[in-house]
Amino acid sequence: MRELILVKYAPEIFLKGLNRGKFERKLRDNIAKKLDGIKAEFIHDSGRYFIKTDEIEESINRISKVFGILEVCLVREVDIDFNSIQEVALEKVRQSEGNTFKIITNRANKKFELNSMEVSRKVGAYVLTNLDGEINVDVKNPDILINIEIRNNYAYVWANTDITKGAAGLPYGMNGSTMLMLSGGIDSPVAGYMMAKRGVEVSCVYYHSHPYTSERAKDKVKDLAKILAQYTEKINLYIVPFTDIQMEIINKCREDELTIIMRRFMMRIACRLADKYGINSVSTGESIGQVASQTMDGLIVSDNCADRPAFRPLIAMDKTDIMEIARKIGTYETSILPYEDCCTIFVPKHPKTNPKLDAIMKEEEKLNVDELVQKSIENIEVVTF
Ligand code: ATP
Ligand code: MG
Repeated sequence: MRELILVKYAPEIFLKGLNRGKFERKLRDNIAKKLDGIKAEFIHDSGRYFIKTDEIEESINRISKVFGILEVCLVREVDIDFNSIQEVALEKVRQSEGNTFKIITNRANKKFELNSMEVSRKVGAYVLTNLDGEINVDVKNPDILINIEIRNNYAYVWANTDITKGAAGLPYGMNGSTMLMLSGGIDSPVAGYMMAKRGVEVSCVYYHSHPYTSERAKDKVKDLAKILAQYTEKINLYIVPFTDIQMEIINKCREDELTIIMRRFMMRIACRLADKYGINSVSTGESIGQVASQTMDGLIVSDNCADRPAFRPLIAMDKTDIMEIARKIGTYETSILPYEDCCTIFVPKHPKTNPKLDAIMKEEEKLNVDELVQKSIENIEVVTF
């Protein structure tokens, strides 16, 4: 009898038809990459992976962060023999806490002499006899749920407490790539997580306004990229010097249009970088109506500078829901550290909430847009996590 890790994929992968194999292989590669440095053997068995390793706890912890996985279960491998199966099931019930239990059986091996219902019933009766008076069956809402799977070579037994929830979503790298505008705030790391969860490869760009934004503000963004990288693969963070652009806007443009013009520069630069590094799209942490620059008109005017899809995965989410995800993925505590962002240092007293494209473009004629963009791109710093 051995302990193995059973990896169940997210159900969506089963719906991929002819592409399913591609998704499965990508998932396998992504798991293997996450297990870098750990000796592990993979067994692919119709719609799931079994993984043999000596470093079970660390492996489960890492695998549960891989997108495309529904559950990671620590399972006991048992010979195909009814007595052995019921002994292990009994032991699992004994090790679990609770007053009620249920047995669920899945018999993939149709040669096994009992069908699923019979296995569940007989094992249940065996548990009841051995734990007489200590425990009852509850088929609707049991405290302890014992899973038995009878496959061709072995059977597998595990309890609900042996299950770690997976990160869900789709395998990372299956759905193109995006350049995420990563600020130090709460929203953009969540936006990056959500894109990555749908299989989109993430790179990040941060606009740094030295000396108005500090080294600590920059380090905070690096820390956020590092946390995101736990869920993805290597992440490149492009740090763009933004002070000259902001100064030009402040010196030459209308005060109430500063923010929207600045956001258009962010969009242009993100697209230029995406183009340079072969990235399909850009993403931001914007949410409709959240602040003055995130009005419908504001979004339309900044979108006009994009030469590729600009995704905003948080667009229809409330701040409280975004914060909940930030806590869950571990970015919240870093995001709330009180360092300044380039968007917050030069805020107009009355920012335009309904900017019009014509008027903004007219205002931008006062600037040498191409040269400003070009210069900031030439002075980029790249950090990889
Ligand atoms: P966040 O919490 O992500 O900072 P926010 O609610 O503070 O968002 P804004 O400051 O208006 O909103 O920024 C909106 C979006 O613009 C951010 O989610 C991010 O994608 C991008 N952004 C803002 N500032 C920067 C920056 N300094 N570098 C890179 N991207 C930025
Ligand atoms: Mg911000």
